[in-house]
Amino acid sequence: MIHFKSKEEIEIIAESAQILGKAHAEVAKAVEPGISTLALDKIAETFIRDHGGVPSFKDYNGFPASLCISMNEHVVHGIPGVYELKEGDIASIDCGVYYKGFHSDSAYTYAVGQVEASVEQLLDTTKASLYKGIEKMVVGNRIGDIGAAIQAYVEEAGFSVVRELVGHGIGKNLHESPEVPNYGKKGRGTLIKEGLVIAIEPMVNLGKKSVVQARDGWTIYTADRQPSAHYEHTVALVDGEAKILTTFEYIEQVLKAKNGKATIH
Ligand code: MG
Ligand code: MG
Repeated sequence: MIHFKSKEEIEIIAESAQILGKAHAEVAKAVEPGISTLALDKIAETFIRDHGGVPSFKDYNGFPASLCISMNEHVVHGIPGVYELKEGDIASIDCGVYYKGFHSDSAYTYAVGQVEASVEQLLDTTKASLYKGIEKMVVGNRIGDIGAAIQAYVEEAGFSVVRELVGHGIGKNLHESPEVPNYGKKGRGTLIKEGLVIAIEPMVNLGKKSVVQARDGWTIYTADRQPSAHYEHTVALVDGEAKILTTFEYIEQVLKAKNGKATIH
């Protein structure tokens, strides 16, 4: 069953999302060749706890960290560890914040230094596809309209959409109904209406769509070992319109200050 949220509840999720956006930005500052993924995790956890939140992912079903950091061919759910970022990598960094009883969830994929042109295109396309999905979050549309829009945009660009992992409702629980696939058919699925809060999170592969789970029980990677990107926003339907509660604004301020390369869609 879907828990539709009141305006007051959505306001709390928005507060949670502000902490999350700023935690992401602290991590963004440190995304450079040579830093370990565990060090990035520590930055996020410290920031979230210092601002009155709790990292949503830590201990979620036994997950050991505050961030999921998924490098290169890793799609999602990578566990931070001793790996050190290097020039040419991409790092998908996913984070959630639990604050005043509500979760927010968002993800961003970083290029570490210069990446191949095809990989840069993968990042741009994946981020743009997220907004194509959000555009379909309109009263009277259905969840399938979101996935269909993401899938069409991604496949038009020559990339593929992961099927096994999907977006989700979010609120008092990190993962709630409904599921929000990044593929599908227009006009199918749950009706979108006031108070719906969902995490929309396209996972897009440079190569083929198939994925595999690693032996660590968490990390999902592409079967063809080609890179994969992931962007995510928590979005609410409030006052008849889609409101993006999470934000990339703070991240992109950091990226612009670093290299002037951030693109905003
Ligand atoms: Mg997430
Ligand atoms: Mg999510």
